[in-house]
Amino acid sequence: MRWDEGAGKLLLRAGQVLGAAWAAPMTLAGLLAGGVAMLRGAKASVSDGAIVFHHVPFGPGGALTLGNTILHTGGSLDAPALTYACRAHGGMDTVRLGDHERAHVYQYLVLGPLFLPLYFACGGISHRNRFEQAADRYAATGRGWWPFSGDR
Ligand SMILES: [Zn+2]
Repeated sequence: MRWDEGAGKLLLRAGQVLGAAWAAPMTLAGLLAGGVAMLRGAKASVSDGAIVFHHVPFGPGGALTLGNTILHTGGSLDAPALTYACRAHGGMDTVRLGDHERAHVYQYLVLGPLFLPLYFACGGISHRNRFEQAADRYAATGRGWWPFSGDR
């Protein structure tokens, strides 16, 4: 059987809708945190597959993806971010922050509420975490956002 392009797009769209529903509990947590942040001056926009809250006035700095939301302490996801490998080992390789976070959005669409337990089981915020390696790989190359592809 051959997929025609329309059927392929429909299937992709159906997968995104199902993924967004599966990730909805995490998205809701992000919307609540973003709502609190907006009371304290944060601004919301839509990009990178997510509702993005900029100028979030709490957190350690940088960006945090929760389902289809991104909480960002800065003003633009177009900002360059050092890769995890460079932060750990030195070097100046950067990726667009929004591309890195979009990989996490895709990871949430597949893993939903399992994302955070698996993320922390894989090492949390670390260059050794395959979720972060995959997000940097995707941000650098446009491919490889799935953390269990074996392509490390
Ligand atoms: Zn990340």
